[in-house]
Amino acid sequence: MSTYDTNNIFAKILRGEIPSHKVYEDDATVAFMDVMPQAEGHVLVLPKTPSRNILDADAATLPSLIGTVQKIAIAAKEAFDADGVTIMQFNEAPAGQSVYHLHFHVIPRREGIPLKP
Ligand code: ADP
Repeated sequence: MSTYDTNNIFAKILRGEIPSHKVYEDDATVAFMDVMPQAEGHVLVLPKTPSRNILDADAATLPSLIGTVQKIAIAAKEAFDADGVTIMQFNEAPAGQSVYHLHFHVIPRREGIPLKP
């Protein structure tokens, strides 16, 4: 169950086989806009290396990944004039994961505006 599926949609985005609205990229990580945003400015941050989720991730990839999460959180809060930022990360279906390439959700938040379901 805990294998990496090279045909998951984020793997296809990373290979350039399907389009994305990329907002950041470096040697180890990439960030693009979520197609079904739960709030304005919802960004996904991924490592380029193939991890299914945090449970099988190589610990060596995590410092660069969390560094990009912080960069995107700061930039998205500024760009969308937000009051705060929600960061979420799901592991396996019972926890809410639907795409099986490790990713963080970075979601700018405005006072009084709940996340869309
Ligand atoms: P959930 O679907 O419950 O949020 P995940 O944490 O696995 O679980 O999140 C996958 C995210 O990927 C969803 O927010 C979904 O809108 C987004 N998504 C799916 N396909 C694409 C795509 N082609 N481009 C950008 N975002 C996508």
